[in-house]
Amino acid sequence: MTGLQDLWFDPSLCFIGGRWVPPVQGGLLPLANPSNGEILCEIARGNEEDIDAAVAAASNASAGEWGRMTAPERGRVLTRLGYLILDRTDELAELEALDVGKPLKQARADVLALARYMEFYGGAADKIHGTTIPYLDGYTVYSLREPHGVTGHIVPWNYPMQIIGRSVGAALAMGNAAVLKPAEEACLTALAFADLAHEAGLPAGALNVVPGLGEEAGAALAAHKGVHHISFTGSVAVGSMIQSAAAPNCVPVTLELGGKSPQLVFDDADLDAALPFLVNAGIQNAGQTCSASSRILVQRGQYDRVVAAMAARYGALQVGPALSDLDIGPLISARQKEIVTGFLANGSDLEQVATGSIVGDAPDNGHYVAPVLFAAVTPEHVLAQSEIFGPVQVIIPFDDEEEAIAIANGTDFGLVASVWTRDGARQMRTAKAIHSGQVFINNYGAGGGVELPFGGVGKSGHGREKGFEALYGFSRLKTVAAFHG
Ligand code: NAD
Repeated sequence: MTGLQDLWFDPSLCFIGGRWVPPVQGGLLPLANPSNGEILCEIARGNEEDIDAAVAAASNASAGEWGRMTAPERGRVLTRLGYLILDRTDELAELEALDVGKPLKQARADVLALARYMEFYGGAADKIHGTTIPYLDGYTVYSLREPHGVTGHIVPWNYPMQIIGRSVGAALAMGNAAVLKPAEEACLTALAFADLAHEAGLPAGALNVVPGLGEEAGAALAAHKGVHHISFTGSVAVGSMIQSAAAPNCVPVTLELGGKSPQLVFDDADLDAALPFLVNAGIQNAGQTCSASSRILVQRGQYDRVVAAMAARYGALQVGPALSDLDIGPLISARQKEIVTGFLANGSDLEQVATGSIVGDAPDNGHYVAPVLFAAVTPEHVLAQSEIFGPVQVIIPFDDEEEAIAIANGTDFGLVASVWTRDGARQMRTAKAIHSGQVFINNYGAGGGVELPFGGVGKSGHGREKGFEALYGFSRLKTVAAFHG
């Protein structure tokens, strides 16, 4: 498949109540290919009325067949869905590459992660349960884990499949009925996912997908009185609006927001092991990754060596169209390119040690930015503080452990961090001292690992997705206290 000629569903429709339906007002939005700026297709411009219909369908599913299904049966549907996703690996990878602009091998890794989420949550569906609690004489007390009911999922464009997997997958495993609002910039794999879920036997209304603009469909979903839990992944600005919109309904909100994730490289680090991670964790998906490692903190004893090795790697990085499958693809949009180049202009006072190159045949209308590495950056510099969401990394020198921790913790964010050192005591100390949702020791996961709870502190958000922890978030606990004398 190159282009959308072999698409097996109509991307201009919403998926509501187990059926493909046009948006009530008939509105459409163009969906562009970031690699060349061409319009791939039109997608539905869902609005409040479509969200109403989707929430009603989810509510019916929750009260009906889906709500009555046993946990092992639910698990079986999700596991089957995982296999259907694997069967379509090549087509889904190509769709994601065309839609998001990510190189094919990265898109392929996202498909495998989506399938793995379905396997993991399919397997977990019947393994989560309440507990018994010792209480007063004459009582038996136990807790039940119940679904919230209808869950709303608002996801961004950078990793549609992975984020749908961790959020919708966990919600469905717990027996919730989901309404998904994918990003207007990239929503094809969200629609493909709905189609495959239907094929896997997911009952009508258990999953509904309404594409559309954030301020229309997204805002309607966040504020909807029929929604019992909101999971949002995206920017800090929109996340705080979502929390306000949901507040009058007193429903729980999970916010997975941005980051400025550091890697701390101490003098005793195994540099040969560290170096591939230092660069890859920053440039993956053109740096448009919430858990991108955009700050590299290096102790002075190894500073020159790390700068030279990273610069050499940057010099070899190639940027080009997603289907050429190079190191880096285009940014998602002209707007994102403007934001990133604006940040680069703010770095004109910095030491730019290396850049990658855009290949000669990259289409003029693609949103390409060559990666840039800055060194000797001060921790307070705007490029060391702001989430750039582009292929830009800064190297910051430090003298000792105390200073490294202070710099690591010196931003508004706290999503992921890594520590490179052979000193076991320092590994433990720094892992405790760093403010962040995940800390990797002698590796960097970019939030990776379906099994590993993931989420932020500070402006990186709150709540945890992935692993079993997500299942707690997508359920509510009921305590039953029986007096029997
Ligand atoms: P965004 O906040 O603009 O959009 C995210 C989603 O919110 C989209 O579906 C959009 O349509 C919707 N939206 C926008 N305005 C809305 C509104 N008023 N009401 C309801 N919904 C609305 O974010 P973005 O630019 O698409 O994504 C980039 C940001 O996402 C970055 O800050 C990045 O760090 C963050 N992100 C975080 C994670 C994580 O897991 N922590 C993962 C991916 C991206």
